[in-house]
Amino acid sequence: MNAVEQPELGEYGHAGDDHVVPFQVGDLDTRGRVVQMGPELDAILSRHAYPQPVSRLLAEVVVLVALLGTSLKFNGKFIVQTKTDGPVDMLVADLTVPGSLRAYARFDETRLDVAVAAGETKPEQLLGNGVLALTIDQGPQTQRYQGIVALDGASLEDVARTYFRQSEQIPTDIRLAAGQQVLPGGNEIWRAGGIVAQFLPDAPERMRMGDLPGGDGDEIDPEAAIDDAWQEARLLVGTVEDLELLDPTVGSERLLNRLFHEHGVRVYEGVELKDDCSCSRKKIETVLTSLSDDERAESVEEGQIKVRCEFCSTEYAFDPAQFAGAD
Ligand SMILES: [Zn+2]
Repeated sequence: MNAVEQPELGEYGHAGDDHVVPFQVGDLDTRGRVVQMGPELDAILSRHAYPQPVSRLLAEVVVLVALLGTSLKFNGKFIVQTKTDGPVDMLVADLTVPGSLRAYARFDETRLDVAVAAGETKPEQLLGNGVLALTIDQGPQTQRYQGIVALDGASLEDVARTYFRQSEQIPTDIRLAAGQQVLPGGNEIWRAGGIVAQFLPDAPERMRMGDLPGGDGDEIDPEAAIDDAWQEARLLVGTVEDLELLDPTVGSERLLNRLFHEHGVRVYEGVELKDDCSCSRKKIETVLTSLSDDERAESVEEGQIKVRCEFCSTEYAFDPAQFAGAD
């Protein structure tokens, strides 16, 4: 694309960093969301100060929860969690409607050092085998909805595609990217981005997805069964480069314009994302009250009960006397 054709940033709107931008491509019966994350993501990751490969993985999980959680039409929480047997054995990110995000990772330092020294830092190598769980939690009075997919040596993108195929039966494509940007002066900040596109035609029979390779219908060409419109949308999403998802001078709207301008793309008002943990002194007080004296005694350090929020590392201190005889 030459300079004449390249629209100015902002010409098609510019929600900016940390806004999920919903879109619709009329000609292709495709809907989706795009996000570029900057300062809010950097705040979440910097606070934890995890080793770089761990932060990168967690950044992708944050983008995934941002893209999927902002589709919720009711109050609640969307949780993405991995549980695997690799050096990084747990990644958790959740979004509380409309756009409050938090996240943390758990990893084995020794195993991570060994993996990094051996150059085995691909996501599938750090995660290992296990599961990815997507949970929708609408509060204590309602049933939790949970979908679980195997995470066996696949990237988070691949696993998300599998999830939508198996659990939602909606043809879905997704791209995720995360990386560090060097600012003038040498400081590095985390950025990440992603796009999710779903094929939602009026006629449900057009949503056929073909057979998985190795499935029962091996003799059928899996591509042949896919609707032309979705074929085109998927092809276009497949051209999205990591840099386009990370570079703030590209912007979500300009990326959408590049992908879909020939097919009538419309952009809707974005959802603002915030580094905003839902922990509070009161909530932790409630948990401590429900414990026995013995259980509480285990948390006493230097005469105080100290509780650290895993998500945001905020430390809360209480006087043990406050809970005496509470149980
Ligand atoms: Zn917290």
